[in-house]
Amino acid sequence: MNFALTDEQTFVRDVARKFADEKLFPRAGEFDHNQKLDRNLIREMAELGLMGVKVPEQYGGAGLDNLAYAISIEELARGCASHALVAAVHGSLFAMPIIEHGTEEQKRKYLPPVCSGEKMAAYSLSEAGAGSDAGSLTLSAQDDGDSYVLNGTKLWVTHGSIADYIIVFATVNRELRTKGIAAFIVEADKPGFQVGKNEVKMGFKASPTAELIFTDYRVPKANLLGQVGRGFNIAMETLNHGRISVGAQSVGMAQRAFEIAARYSLDRKQFGAAISTFQAIQFKLADMQAKIHSARLVTYEAAWRKDQGLPVAKNAAIAKMYGSEIGTQVAHQAIQILGGFGYTHEYNVERIYRDVRLCEIFEGTNEVQRIVVARELLKEAAEAVR
Ligand SMILES: Cc1cc2nc3c(=O)[nH]c(=O)nc-3n(C[C@H](O)[C@H](O)[C@H](O)COP(=O)(O)OP(=O)(O)OC[C@H]3O[C@@H](n4cnc5c(N)ncnc54)[C@H](O)[C@@H]3O)c2cc1C
Repeated sequence: MNFALTDEQTFVRDVARKFADEKLFPRAGEFDHNQKLDRNLIREMAELGLMGVKVPEQYGGAGLDNLAYAISIEELARGCASHALVAAVHGSLFAMPIIEHGTEEQKRKYLPPVCSGEKMAAYSLSEAGAGSDAGSLTLSAQDDGDSYVLNGTKLWVTHGSIADYIIVFATVNRELRTKGIAAFIVEADKPGFQVGKNEVKMGFKASPTAELIFTDYRVPKANLLGQVGRGFNIAMETLNHGRISVGAQSVGMAQRAFEIAARYSLDRKQFGAAISTFQAIQFKLADMQAKIHSARLVTYEAAWRKDQGLPVAKNAAIAKMYGSEIGTQVAHQAIQILGGFGYTHEYNVERIYRDVRLCEIFEGTNEVQRIVVARELLKEAAEAVR
C-alpha cells in the first residue's frame, strides 16, 4: 500500500493550502459576519484551477483525480468553509452529473464557465416535504413539445439565490415515485424562475441557501440530463461524490480548529505554566489528532476507490458520517482548550464549530448515511455466506 501523494496531488495541496492561508482564513470571520461570498476570490480560486479539479481539461478543468479533488476541498475548508463549498458544489454536485450523464453539447456549454468562476452553479434535489425521502419530490415536469414545463418549489438550495445554472430534479409522474424523476440543467435568467426566502442559518453564513420557485418554467429538452426515469439514480450517484467532499470539508475544518487549539495551548499560561503542559489538555489534543488522522485516511481511501473504479457508496457514506462527527467533536474540544476565548469570534473556533455542524446534516443526514452503510455491509455479509 502506497500512501505517498503523486506530484500532481502534492501540487494541488500546496496551491490550495497557500490560497487558504493567505486569502481565505484571514478573512473568514469577515465573510461569516457579512454573510457574503467574495466573487473575486472565487475567480482567483478558478484561475488556480481549484473550481474544476477533476473536470477534464477540454471542458475547462484541471483534469486531475478524485483524490486530488478531495485534498483541494480539505485545504480550502481549512481556510473558509463557505468558499470551499463553492468549489465542492461546482466540482461534485454540478460538474459530476454532467460529466457522467451529459451530452457533448451540455458539457461544452455548462462546464467551462463554471470552472472559470464566471458562472455560479447549484444542485436542487430537496423540497419542503422531501428531505431524507428525496424520492417523494413533487416539483412537476410536464412534457410539452420541445420543452418540459416545471412547476413547484424547491428548498435548501445552496447558492440557489446567486446561481446561474442549477441541476434540478423533477417528476414527470408522481405515481412512478423514483422511476418518474428526471434531472434538468436549468438557467436562472429565464421567465418562470424566482428566488424565494433565504434561510437564516447557524453557520456557513457566507454561503446563501435559498428556496426556488418555478412557475411554468420552460426547460428545453436539450437540457434533460440523462434519461427521464434515471434522475433519482443520477441524484444518488452525485451524492456519492459529494459525500467524499463533505468528509474532506470536515477534515479541513477540524484540522484548522486543532491547529488553533494546539498553538493557543503553547502560549496560554495558567498556574505558572503553559496549559499544554497539563495532561488534560495533552490528551484532548492527542484525541483530536487521532480523530482527524483517521477521518482523513477514510476520506482519501473513498476518493482513491473512486479513482480505481471500485464501489464507493459505503466508503463515501463513512467518510461523510465519520468526518462530520469528528469535525464537530474536534471543534467542540478546541473551544474548550481556548476557554473563554474559544467562545468569542476572535479565535475562529466557534465559527468552525457552527460551520462543521452542517456536515452532519446536508447531502443526506448521518442517520441516512448509517442506512447506506448498513445496507451495503449487510449485502456484503450475505454474499460472504453464499
Ligand atoms: C445549509 C443547508 C444547505 C443545503 N443544501 C442543499 C442543496 O444544495 N441541495 C439540496 O438538494 N439540498 C440541500 N440541503 C438539504 C439537505 O440535504 C436536507 O436538509 C437533508 O437531506 C435532510 O432533510 P430534512 O432537512 O428534510 O430532514 P428530515 O428528512 O425531515 O429529517 C429529520 C430527522 O429525521 C431523521 N430521519 C429521516 N428519515 C429517517 C430514517 N428513515 N431513519 C432514521 N432517521 C431518519 C433525519 O436523519 C433527521 O435527523 C441543504 C440543507 C441545509 C441545512
